[in-house]
Amino acid sequence: MPAPAVHFKQIRPDCRPENMTDPDIFYHTDHFSILLNIKGNREYTKVSYPVKYGMFSRLETRDHILEFNLNHEITHARSKTRDWLHPSEWLKRTRGNDWIYYSSGGYAGVFEAIGEYYLPNFMYPTNSLLGGKPFEFPVISDLCSSWQDILADIPDPLPDMPDPIADWLEKVRSIQATDLQKKAGRLFAISGARATVLPPDARHSDYNLIPLTIADGCLYKCRFCKVKNKKPFTPRSRTDIQRQIQELKLLYGPDLINENALFLGEHDALNAPQDLILFAAKESHAAFGFARTYMKHPRIYLFGSVDSLLNADMTLFDALNRLPFETHINIGLESHDPATLEQIGKPITAGKVSRAFDRMGEINQAFPKIEMTGNFIMDDHLPPTHIPAMLALVRDRIPRPAAKGSIYLSPLQFGKPSREVLYDFYRLKTACRLPMFLLYHPAALAGRHTIYFNEEEQYEQNRHLSENEIRCHGRICCRCHGFRCSLGI
Ligand code: SF4
Repeated sequence: MPAPAVHFKQIRPDCRPENMTDPDIFYHTDHFSILLNIKGNREYTKVSYPVKYGMFSRLETRDHILEFNLNHEITHARSKTRDWLHPSEWLKRTRGNDWIYYSSGGYAGVFEAIGEYYLPNFMYPTNSLLGGKPFEFPVISDLCSSWQDILADIPDPLPDMPDPIADWLEKVRSIQATDLQKKAGRLFAISGARATVLPPDARHSDYNLIPLTIADGCLYKCRFCKVKNKKPFTPRSRTDIQRQIQELKLLYGPDLINENALFLGEHDALNAPQDLILFAAKESHAAFGFARTYMKHPRIYLFGSVDSLLNADMTLFDALNRLPFETHINIGLESHDPATLEQIGKPITAGKVSRAFDRMGEINQAFPKIEMTGNFIMDDHLPPTHIPAMLALVRDRIPRPAAKGSIYLSPLQFGKPSREVLYDFYRLKTACRLPMFLLYHPAALAGRHTIYFNEEEQYEQNRHLSENEIRCHGRICCRCHGFRCSLGI
């Protein structure tokens, strides 16, 4: 008995009839369809139904939908079978060649917790209090590894297949899983290392961003933090920044038009010289053609520290505000409590945290195109003075509720943080006069850390290996204990 035909009228709302009448763009048989150059949303939005961004192409069969970027690389996949968990949930492949399953997870609860309607679920353990284990369902895990079989089942170009469609099919079939892995490796090699953490604000771009390192290392080397490396804080040269930009431009290729966000790495880019930050932003804007990309409203994301914020001249923020970007700067405050700062080994004072918090508010008020956000830690085992000290800032220091200047709470524990932590989060969210969310990172660009050991000593023993040589042991990442870097790009 022949397989049932694909029901094209039901496939996707963005398969507009005008596209489907052009034979160079739309082709179908009873068993599959191909639609090229679909125009998805041009702006990232927060809605409770699935939205696709940028320009892409789609192959649909009776059982599956696969989507590909303008480099003919797979980006999204879902099954249409009954086993699939929910028809509006999907798999996304990151630039770092990891798969993420986006689940609705009960819209209200997820949005309240992370500020997004869809919850990214990872193939590896994270610090998340939310979500299930979708990769334990064979229909999901199998699709991550079997999408090439679906392509192989499409017959070779049929006599009536237009050349653009046949050409596209040949190209998507020619890209093997190993090619995608190598390309991810090349992405990490451009900056010299796989990024270990992204600013939580990058959720506003669905974590689709171009990583450009303008300074290595950080100022504090806090005892609790496993994201840190041993590099002293060192800005990159302009020459190196230009080299990265040119190599990134080549790597992203035609799909560059689907990008409109930049991550200035790595852990304290705000501490780089003012002229270097502005140079990197302006050079990137010109080289990546952000004024002309399909995705609108370019954004910059970077991390800052308490000291880099206090030392920065207001002229920097004035200049950033004039750039053709919206800029999001995430500051690691961690705690406003001396006992907690002492316990976690963060070498700053509560007084400095307080001054940095006030400065974030001033910048948020003065510059409409800049958002300063802050991170605090949360854990069952912190001193009892931690929460009251935090509330003294996020509740008592803010005269009225404000919509700008999000606060992210980072659970310290990995694997199974206690339910009390989640209860505390909702209690704090109610009290906080700024938007407050759980810190939750999808592996948008790259994937997980490649170094996973239980003991930091083991990590030290393996420091001589490059990141790509070290394999995930499926255990706690000693560099972060799952904290801050559950995205682990
Ligand atoms: S928390 Fe920030 S400043 Fe402290 S060690 Fe980690 S990356 Fe460096």
